[in-house]
Amino acid sequence: MKAMVLKEISPIEKEPLEMVDMPNPVPGPKEILVKISTCGVCHTELDEIEGRIQPKLPIVLGHEIVGRVERFGSEAKKFNLGDRVGIAWINSACGKCHFCEEGNENLCLAFKGTGCHANGGYAQYTAVSEDFAYLIPKRFSDSEAAPLLCAGAIGYRDLRLSGIKKDQTLGLFGFGASAHIVIQIAKYWGCEVFVFTRSEEHRNLAKKLGASWAGRPEEAPPKKIDCAIDFTPVGETVAHALRVLEKGGRLVIAVIRKRNSIPPLDYAQLLWDEKEIKSVANITRKDAQEFLSLAAEIPIIPEVQEFKLEEANKALILSKQGKIQGAGVLRMSD
Ligand SMILES: [Zn+2]
Ligand SMILES: [Zn+2]
Repeated sequence: MKAMVLKEISPIEKEPLEMVDMPNPVPGPKEILVKISTCGVCHTELDEIEGRIQPKLPIVLGHEIVGRVERFGSEAKKFNLGDRVGIAWINSACGKCHFCEEGNENLCLAFKGTGCHANGGYAQYTAVSEDFAYLIPKRFSDSEAAPLLCAGAIGYRDLRLSGIKKDQTLGLFGFGASAHIVIQIAKYWGCEVFVFTRSEEHRNLAKKLGASWAGRPEEAPPKKIDCAIDFTPVGETVAHALRVLEKGGRLVIAVIRKRNSIPPLDYAQLLWDEKEIKSVANITRKDAQEFLSLAAEIPIIPEVQEFKLEEANKALILSKQGKIQGAGVLRMSD
């Protein structure tokens, strides 16, 4: 099969992903072999490539995978041949540690990420445990379904962890792949949404998707926000969000790593009054499954920009520059 492989940590501008021919993966007893049709491009791949999180090397990146079941391991029986399935960031969890037992498998002591600790979707095939794959609802095309698996599923977790309730005001900082899905859930739940982003194009897309106000991150919105989600890779946003957060409000930081550190926070001005900061780590299978059903019900149709597999470096560079409208998706050729 053809795959775009990362062999060493490097700035993405050096185009470190290399097209290689490698043998198709062989599914283990409880695994399925999936012929990949599309794979979403996520900011987390930039963190892996540039070394802010440490993948096993060499690695096939990609954790928003849509494809069809082509072969089974000897004990796999959950799916039929040809079923369209999705694979997300959670590649495996032990099922035995106290986090797993409490329903927090996203925090599992032996957590493995797709395209980080196990080969992922920047390739024509992948193998995964049948327990970590999901049927994709019919109403989505292969390209539309891909960003639902991370940008969407993590966004859904961010939104739940923010504690937002109907009729409250939500602030979204940054408006890329995840935020443009989150706004659609929040509107469906009856929330008012304010969007803070440097990009004029993203502000326009936010208004088209129902934001009642959109401005730059340091601007003051018409009123305070009850909950905030920070999708930006920069540390300064934390202070901007806390400044406009209502007393008792919660800021959820949705990124795995910030590109630069969070500047010192003035406790009296920014944190007092029972404000909270919470981060989000990984997703559970329940997040992915609940979100796929919700996305089909609303429905959420992500905006996507397609690239060929061999254009993965280019797609990631554009993503780093914030130049992709909605979500970037790689489409595999036969
Ligand atoms: Zn992701
Ligand atoms: Zn565990």
